[in-house]
Amino acid sequence: MEYDYLVVGQGIAGTMLSYSLLQAGQRVLVIDAYKPNSASRIAAGVINPVSGRRFEMAWLYNELYPFAKQTYTQMGQLLGVPAFTERDIWMALPSEQLRTAFNNKTTQGPARQYTCPADAALMDAWLQQPFGAAIVKGATVLLHHLLPAWRRYLAERELLLETQLHPAALLHNAAGVQYRRLRARAIIFCEGAQIIHNPWFTQIPFLLNKGEVLQVRVPGLQTENILKKSITLVPQAPEVFWAGSTFVWDYTDEAPTPEKRAFLEQGIQQMLKVPYTVLNQQAGIRPSGKDRRPIMGLHPQHPALGLFNGLGTKGCSLAPYMAHLLTMHLLQGAPLPPETDIKRYFNR
Ligand SMILES: Cc1cc2nc3c(=O)[nH]c(=O)nc-3n(C[C@H](O)[C@H](O)[C@H](O)COP(=O)(O)OP(=O)(O)OC[C@H]3O[C@@H](n4cnc5c(N)ncnc54)[C@H](O)[C@@H]3O)c2cc1C
Repeated sequence: MEYDYLVVGQGIAGTMLSYSLLQAGQRVLVIDAYKPNSASRIAAGVINPVSGRRFEMAWLYNELYPFAKQTYTQMGQLLGVPAFTERDIWMALPSEQLRTAFNNKTTQGPARQYTCPADAALMDAWLQQPFGAAIVKGATVLLHHLLPAWRRYLAERELLLETQLHPAALLHNAAGVQYRRLRARAIIFCEGAQIIHNPWFTQIPFLLNKGEVLQVRVPGLQTENILKKSITLVPQAPEVFWAGSTFVWDYTDEAPTPEKRAFLEQGIQQMLKVPYTVLNQQAGIRPSGKDRRPIMGLHPQHPALGLFNGLGTKGCSLAPYMAHLLTMHLLQGAPLPPETDIKRYFNR
């Protein structure tokens, strides 16, 4: 079977790259071994314009956000599922110091257009917010709809192979790749954290990190807003919220732990005034690069092997625009932004 591109992985990276390549008229086959706790399957899908405790504007946000909104909305229409929702992020400010930091950053400078004051009284029955609250204009990607719907779309068109790709069986040269009976001009690895087992990209210093999340029921709490204090509650269904997340560099396995459940529950108790019950706990591994920027492009020594990885904590905002840039690079030779280009790890 002849293709233009094999895409390995159907997390958010492989989903958006395969969508972008198909939109550009390419023949694409996605190869994915379903992994229930892949980063994309357990992420909340939050898009937040400000990040960290200093409330800095997220990198490239003014380019990333409009592109993401448009692309997810178009995909949702194509697939007949809700894929994207703009949401307010209700921030219960956790201390006087952070209230000052937030006000300093958001009353002037680029973050201003994405924030506004909140009438804290509206949530006082539910949230502990002695230092007040503020609103950040964010969004969520509805990954639990989008990823299965894209998988069905691919499967119905025979564009999906549900299997683990074994690198040892992959033949490649400058003209293309062959994997068993499949041939293509190039293969693009969107393997998430499993990239560390890929023999061709071992020189890239991936810094993976583990995140854990809870699913909780909060009786009576009905809101479309994301609620944030030291942890984040993201609405999933009436009274049901995703609660996360933790961030650990140093871990031994992918299993959920009692310590992180206790940590997350402590965060929930510091935020909520009302009782809740835990429904579920999950853990997954975020694929990050050392410099926390995407890593993409073709291998300088093996030009039929490509990479789309390093989406870190921001896969949902980064993936659509980065997939578009990578598609333009593959099809038209358009240069990649240097800080995302895989070559930065080979020039040294
Ligand atoms: C707890 C947690 C919360 C998060 N919350 C958010 C959030 O709110 N907003 C946000 O933007 N980001 C969030 N993230 C980060 C986000 O999840 C990641 O940036 C993103 O999911 C990475 O996507 P990916 O496609 O690169 O990798 P993955 O999602 O890991 O997907 C990789 C896929 O490739 C498949 N695969 C790998 N190797 C092979 C192979 N050899 N053969 C076949 N298949 C293969 C895997 O099975 C998997 O399906 C969160 C992450 C975690 C862990």
